[in-house]
Formats: sequence, structure tokens, C-alpha cells
Amino acid sequence: MDSKEVIQQNRDYTLFSWSVQSQANPIHIAGGKGAYFFDGDGNHWLDFSSQLININVGHQHPKVLEAIKKQVDELCFAAPAFASKPRGELGKRLAEVTGLAKSFFTLGGSEANENAIKIARLYTGRDKIITRYRSYHGATMGSMTASGDPRRWAVEPGIPGVVRAFDPYCYRCPFGKQPDWCHRECVSHIEEIIQMEGPHTIAAILVEGITGSNGLLVPPDDYYPKLRALCDKYGILLIDDEVMSGFGRTGTYLATQHYGIQPDIVTCAKGLTSGYMPLGAVIVSEKIAQHFENTMLWGGLTYSSHPVSCAAAIANLDVYEEERIFDNVNSLGHHLGQRLEAMKAKFDCVGDVRYIGLFSVIELVRNKETREPLAPFNGSSPEMQKLAAYLKSKYIYAFVRFNMVWVCPPLVISQEDLDKGLDVYEEALALVDDLIK
Ligand code: PLP
Repeated sequence: MDSKEVIQQNRDYTLFSWSVQSQANPIHIAGGKGAYFFDGDGNHWLDFSSQLININVGHQHPKVLEAIKKQVDELCFAAPAFASKPRGELGKRLAEVTGLAKSFFTLGGSEANENAIKIARLYTGRDKIITRYRSYHGATMGSMTASGDPRRWAVEPGIPGVVRAFDPYCYRCPFGKQPDWCHRECVSHIEEIIQMEGPHTIAAILVEGITGSNGLLVPPDDYYPKLRALCDKYGILLIDDEVMSGFGRTGTYLATQHYGIQPDIVTCAKGLTSGYMPLGAVIVSEKIAQHFENTMLWGGLTYSSHPVSCAAAIANLDVYEEERIFDNVNSLGHHLGQRLEAMKAKFDCVGDVRYIGLFSVIELVRNKETREPLAPFNGSSPEMQKLAAYLKSKYIYAFVRFNMVWVCPPLVISQEDLDKGLDVYEEALALVDDLIK
């Protein structure tokens, strides 16, 4: 079968996510190595999206492949009521790296958030969840409702009890302030929401560690300590969705570890196995774990704590440690930040750049003074389409959404490859500058 036939069969018999099916335009991915994937025609693509910000240790890491094969030979499946070696070992490792106590395993991030919401409700006996508008927490009914992003519109009214707040989006502050002279209204208005909703009704505040697919909103340093204090004041749980920002993407296991706070619940997936096997986790604090010692945890999934997924996660964590991957993220992250700042200074179309580790975005504008976005919220524009097409024509695979383009390569990328990709981004930005002159 050649690539054209593979694509045709995919289109004839499968449905593509988030797509008008007749417009889906998939690349046939046939292999990969490190920061590159290969298409069916033999082209090598530099993967600046890490396959949905996921494949942290790069494509086809031999150590993770070996662990999967070994576990397949030993035991492919165990129902969730059974104990298994990889399940316990992974639980222990996650407690160590997060400072939390116990893990409930799921198949991915949406299910992790779904179960985190349920656990928070069971633990507190309260039902409301506060989330933020510029957020994405998944595509199952509960996690999609919890998202603030327009993707949630498809399931509305969704599950009851979700209340939304504004984000720490300093470039376009919803309160018209600047971080050096604001009063952190992005936190204080949440207290007002809590009071209006009734503190006794609110189970949890659910936030992405660092907002990912809604534009990499790196909060001011005191945002999380203030949010933590607010949760403590009202007995509300803090759920930290680290599905995208966790496991090395920002140079630490959890993005919130940069801010010195401890969430009550962490949800994760993606970088937990680098996508080699489907796995997510809800990791809970000691007090929440204790609660379920004497009361029922209402919930379960046939594939929870799948032994092959757990074995892949353990090997993936070993790779992070043994190959000192987070050191690479921190040093390359510094370099990436410098290059992004230089782009902001150089190109008229670059309004803002936001970055932490190898998690970054370029926000494009039509006019630097007015900050008019280069594409409308929840839409696109000919300029953004041209930018995306240019990157594709040079075999750079990037995540482009609204007026933003992300730079999120696998964490094992070399500086040479990072620079190679960024040089092409610069060519694309020069093209856009010409278009908006
Ligand atoms: N939470 C965040 C922050 C995400 O970015 C995503 C997916 O991109 C999810 C949850 C959903 O995870 P999954 O697609 O594994 O269900």
C-alpha cells in the first residue's frame, strides 16, 4: 500500500477528531526516531508539536520499547481488582515525584480529569467545580464541560455544577491591568465567585498547571501561592491538570513545582508514558487517600492500571532520570526563550512570546500597538494559514491554533535541531510580516 492508499483507507473507514471529515488532511506517519517522524513517502519531519505535546522522550526510544516488549511477554492484562508489579511500582514512583500519596490509573487525560472531579465531589460532599475559560481538560462529557475553551460548546449544557473564572492572561488581561501594577485580580475575582456561589458548595478549583492549548499562559510567580491560600481558606481542593504541562515539559515533574505549592490532586497522561501506551493518572494527597480507606471509591475502568501501560511509564520515568532529560529542557529552554524574545523584537507580527522549558507559543498580531490578533478567537485567517503551510512545506510539524503557533519539540531534541526548526519559523514570520505591511 502506498501513502495515498493508506490515507484513503483511513478516510474511508475512520473518523478524524476535531475535523470536518471532508476537510481532514492527514499525513501518513510511518515511523520516527527522536525528534523526527517519517511519512510514508520517506520525508523526515521535525516534530515541533511532539504529537500533541506528548512524545517527550522522542519517537521510538529503545528503552521504552524494550520495557513494553518485556511486559507483553510476561503479562498482557490484569483486571483492575488485581495487584500487579508494574502497577505498585508506578504508584510508588508517582508518589515520590509529586509528593502526593496514591494513584488511580485511567487511560488518558480526559478520564483522569473526569475521575478527579468525581473524587473531589465524593471527598468534599460538595458539587461545584471552578475552572477557567481559557482551558482544555478533555473530550469526555465531564472533562469537556469543565473546559472553558470553545470545544466545550458541543456538549453544553454538559454536566451541572461547573462555574468558570478568568485566566492569568497578562498580555490580554481580562481586567485591563499589567502584572507589575495589578492586584492579581485573576485570583481575587475567584474569591468573589466563591462567595457568590457559596463556599460550602464548591468542591474544587481545577486548573491546568500551565495552560497549554489555549496559549501557554505562564502566570505571575505569586499566582499559585495565592490560589492555594484561597483554596485553604474555603476548604476547596486544588486540582492541578498536568496532562500537558507535566512530566518534564517545563523542566520539572509538575509545572506547579516551579511555584512551590502542593496541589491536592494531580491529573496527568501524555508525558507519563510519552504516549507509548495509553495511560493517565489521578494522584491524590494523603488526606484524600485516607478518606477512601473507609468509604467506597465509586468508580473503575476495565483498563485501569493496565500492566503494559504501567511498564511503559516506569521505563519512561527511568529515561527522564538516567538521561537527565530535564537538564536538557532547562538549558535548551533558556536558549529557546532567547530566540523567541529575539523574534518578538524583530518581527512586526509577533505580539507576544510565552515560554517555560520546552513549552512555548508565539502569539501573532496584525498590529503590535493595538494588539489586534492575526486571526479571530476560535477562527483562522489567510495569514495564519500561510504560516502553517510554509512550515509544512519545509517539513516542520507545528501546532497552529487561532493566532498562535506553538514550539513544543520532544524533550530530547538537540540544540542543532531546535535551531534548525526555529530558523524556519523565522522565515515563516518574515513571510507574514510581508503580508501585513
Ligand atoms: N488536559 C489537558 C491540559 C490537555 O491538554 C488534554 C489534551 O490535550 C487533556 C486534558 C485530555 O487528555 P486526553 O486527550 O489524553 O484525554
